[in-house]
Amino acid sequence: MQFDIITIFPDFFSSILAHGVLKRALASKLLTVHTHNLRDFAHDRHRTVDDRPFGGGEGMVLKPEPLAEAIESLNVAPKTDRNLQSETIILLSAQGARFTQSTARELATLDRVALICGRYEGVDERVNELFCDRELSIGDYVLSGGELAAAIVLDATMRLIPGVLGNEASSAYESFGQPDHIFPESEDGPPRSTHGSGGLLDYPHYTRPAEFRGLAIPEVLSGGNHDQIRRWRRERALEKTWRNRPDLLENADLTREDRAFLTALNQQKS
Ligand code: SAM
Repeated sequence: MQFDIITIFPDFFSSILAHGVLKRALASKLLTVHTHNLRDFAHDRHRTVDDRPFGGGEGMVLKPEPLAEAIESLNVAPKTDRNLQSETIILLSAQGARFTQSTARELATLDRVALICGRYEGVDERVNELFCDRELSIGDYVLSGGELAAAIVLDATMRLIPGVLGNEASSAYESFGQPDHIFPESEDGPPRSTHGSGGLLDYPHYTRPAEFRGLAIPEVLSGGNHDQIRRWRRERALEKTWRNRPDLLENADLTREDRAFLTALNQQKS
């Protein structure tokens, strides 16, 4: 899969591309990332990419000409014939649709994603209209530029490309895992990963030492009873989701046992 990132700060990405899973994905050739300096597409001596807004008001706006040329240099198919199954152009914007794990899953199936990073007050809207398939926001707050947002979209998406995490199952069992990934592993053997899947948040994890600053690990985790460990993890995932993100419970894939557990939590609360 290929990512192209158009930005006035291409160096911003050097550090994140040089670490961890992203670095390994690049080395394994499952992923390529090209950054493109928007200023290379400016034609004046000062490499100007912004201008004052029509109608007055605060700040500066990224001009359409350099952005259009930068996007056209990618040789992505024109918007009208673009096959969304294989390539897409995304504008990072606080006004965009919310980027979620489900968006990341969708993007990870594509061959190519181009990310346009805004700056200042944003991007001339005609660039959005002419070239972009969608606007994505990473959350309800305003960043000073699209680079952090692009890095988040890149990171969350590339770890879902088959082969990048090594163990295909691991992303399915994480927080926000797909609803149809509930308990698909074999019932014998140690629980592989989280039972916070099925649309829930992940359960809490512990490692050595067994006691740390007066806090012991939950006893069930050292008892070796795999069924009990599965149930404990599922209940902790339910509890965490109930406490921190009750909105996720509406679409989560819940068993009868899960529902009974949640009812008990609600009764305790009232
Ligand atoms: N005037 C814009 C508004 O009120 O929506 C904010 C512009 S912001 C200072 C500059 C750039 O940062 C945007 O063009 C966009 O690329 C990026 N940006 C800011 N917040 C973002 C968010 N929540 N998600 C994605 N990109 C964001």
